[in-house]
Amino acid sequence: MAKQVEHLGPAELAKLKKAKLRYAQYGSNVCNFCGDTTANYFATGDYTIRICPVCFEQFKDKFEWEEQDWRLGRGQEKYLKGAKLKYVTDFKKFSDTWDHEHCEFCMDKFMEAEGCLREGYCTLDEKNWICQTCFDDFKEMFKWTVVDRES
Ligand SMILES: [Zn+2]
Ligand SMILES: [Zn+2]
Repeated sequence: MAKQVEHLGPAELAKLKKAKLRYAQYGSNVCNFCGDTTANYFATGDYTIRICPVCFEQFKDKFEWEEQDWRLGRGQEKYLKGAKLKYVTDFKKFSDTWDHEHCEFCMDKFMEAEGCLREGYCTLDEKNWICQTCFDDFKEMFKWTVVDRES
């Protein structure tokens, strides 16, 4: 059972004070405040505490919550801050078993398939992919440089 607000300990309540919460599109859980199980939730960066939109509105002033873009908060700054990126115009599968990648921020899919992304940015080792929208939204925050080719 998820802990509800009256059961949250001092450490958890302290963690919620002035927390940056982001909208968690994925996964399911129980609202730690009211027990609702039907909505998408706001969650702390480590996903340990989830709050439904109703409770978010109700308690945001009390806890001084700040809403963070749902695409952030998974530690991307650790491996993508200041990264060199290259622009790819035609995504190709790497092998038969490695045929797609996901945007590191919005999870959109790069793949040689209908409705999937074919253009976007990736790190020079092609391990991390970023779609155009997320590139535009986060390029200042992450201070990326785009290079023509690996040098
Ligand atoms: Zn709730
Ligand atoms: Zn994206």
